[in-house]
Amino acid sequence: MSDDARTAHDRRVAGLAAALAASSGPVRLRKRTSNLFRPREDGDRTELDVAGLDHVLAIDAENRSAEVEGMVPYADLVDATLPLGLAPAIVPELRSITVGGAVSGVAIESSGFRYGLVHDTVRELDVLVADGRVLTCSREQRAALFHGFPNSYGSLGYATRVTLDLVPVQPWVRLEYRRYSSAEPIFEAMAAECARPTCDYLEGVCFGPGDFVLSRAHYLEHLPSRTSPSDYTWMKIYWKSLRERDEDLLTVHDFLWRWDTDWFWCSRNVGAQLKPVRLLLGRKRLNSVTYQKIMRASRRFPLSLLQHVRPRTESVIQDVDIPVANAAAFLADFEAEIGIRPVWLCPFVVPNDSTSLFRLDPDTAYINFGFWDMVRSTRPDGHYNARVEALVAKHGGKKSLYSRSTYDEATFWSIFDRQAYRRLKAECDPEGRFPGLYEKAVRQG
Ligand SMILES: Cc1cc2nc3c(=O)[nH]c(=O)nc-3n(C[C@H](O)[C@H](O)[C@H](O)COP(=O)(O)OP(=O)(O)OC[C@H]3O[C@@H](n4cnc5c(N)ncnc54)[C@H](O)[C@@H]3O)c2cc1C
Repeated sequence: MSDDARTAHDRRVAGLAAALAASSGPVRLRKRTSNLFRPREDGDRTELDVAGLDHVLAIDAENRSAEVEGMVPYADLVDATLPLGLAPAIVPELRSITVGGAVSGVAIESSGFRYGLVHDTVRELDVLVADGRVLTCSREQRAALFHGFPNSYGSLGYATRVTLDLVPVQPWVRLEYRRYSSAEPIFEAMAAECARPTCDYLEGVCFGPGDFVLSRAHYLEHLPSRTSPSDYTWMKIYWKSLRERDEDLLTVHDFLWRWDTDWFWCSRNVGAQLKPVRLLLGRKRLNSVTYQKIMRASRRFPLSLLQHVRPRTESVIQDVDIPVANAAAFLADFEAEIGIRPVWLCPFVVPNDSTSLFRLDPDTAYINFGFWDMVRSTRPDGHYNARVEALVAKHGGKKSLYSRSTYDEATFWSIFDRQAYRRLKAECDPEGRFPGLYEKAVRQG
C-alpha cells in the first residue's frame, strides 16, 4: 500500500474509532446497500457511518493479493483487478456484496469447489472493536479472532481492512451445460469435480424434479473465430439460457456478474422479466441494487388493500450447506415440504476446519442450496423457515444467518460454538455495544 493510501485509510478508521469512543450504548452500521433479509429493529442506537470505508488500497499482482477497506463492494474490487488479469478467488454473485459483509457472513460462489468459502481466501483482517481499538488478525496473529470472525455478522466488530487472495483469469469464459434428469448423478459429478477440479467454475440449477442443469465454466484466452460473446445485461435473461443452450461464451466481467442482472431469477418478483419493464429500466438499472430498493420500499409501504385479497405467503429466503452425500435426500425432502423452484446448487470444499462459528467437515464436499421466494401458507408465520432449519439439521448441514432464523436459543448454540463466541465477545465487546449473534440473527436482525 502506498504511504498516501495508508495515511488516508488510517484517518478514515481513526474517525470511526473516535465516533465509537465518543458514544455509549448500542451501535449499528450505516451503509449504502445491504443484502440482509432479516427484519431490522429500529432501536435507539448510535449509527456508525462506514460508507466512506470503500477504497481498494493496494493490489499486489506478484503476490496475488488485494488489500481493501471493509465496505468495498465486490463490483469495485473486480473493476480494479480485471485489468491486471486477476480476480478475487471467490466473487459472490451480487455486485453490492461488500468484502467485510462477505467475510462476516460466510459468502460463497461457484469457484468454491476449488477454494472454499470467501473467508478461506482471506489472509489478514483489521477488526474495529467496541472500544475503538483496531485488532489485526491472521492465521498467525490473534488466530482465535481470525477464525471466529466468519459468521459473526458484525456482532464482534467491523472489518475495516481485509487482505485476500486473487487468482489469474483470462478475458473470456466458455460455459458448458449438461442436463440431468435425476439428482444423484449431478451431485456425483459435483463431488468428482471437488475432488479433482477440471474446470474453473462449477454450479448447477434445479428447475424441478428431474430437471437439472450443471454448468462448467473455463477461462479462454482468445475468442474463437466467428463467435461473439452473449449479452445478458439487458433483454436476454441468463437463467433462461441454461435450458436453451448447450454452451455459451461470456466476457469474464459478464460471467462474474451473470446472476446480478436478474438477482438470480428473483427479478421476476418485481416484474423485471417482462420485456416492457426491461426496456423501461434499461441496462443500468437491471441489477440487484435496484431490486433491493424496490423490495425495501414495498416493505415500508405495504400495499394494504392487496394484502387482504392475495393468498397469505411466507418469505423463504435461505442458503443452506449440506454434505454432498446427503444432498439428493435433502433436495427430495425440500421439494416435498417447501417446493420452491428453481434452486441454485453451488458445490464447495472446506480447506480447513478452524472456523469456529461455522464449523464444517473438511472431509466432505458440501452443496450450497440457495432458494429465495414466497411460499403460499395457511400455517403460522415462520413454519416454512423452521422446516428448512429442521431439514438442514436432519441432513447434517448448516444454514446461513443472513435471513430469517427461528431457532430457540439452546438449539442455536448447539449448532454454533457458544464457548468460542463468549471468549471472543469478552475480548472485542465486553459491554455488549454490538448485538449478540443470537439476538442479531434470530431476535432483531
Ligand atoms: C437473494 C440473495 C442472494 C444471495 N446470494 C448470495 C450469493 O450468491 N453469494 C453469497 O455469497 N451470498 C449471497 N447472499 C448473502 C450475502 O452474501 C450475505 O447476506 C452477506 O452478508 C451480505 O453482505 P453485504 O456486504 O451486503 O452486507 P450487509 O447485508 O450490509 O450486512 C450483512 C451482515 O454483515 C455485517 N457486516 C457488514 N459489513 C461488515 C463488516 N465490514 N464487518 C463486519 N460485519 C459486517 C452486518 O452488520 C450484517 O449483519 C445472498 C443474499 C440474498 C438475499
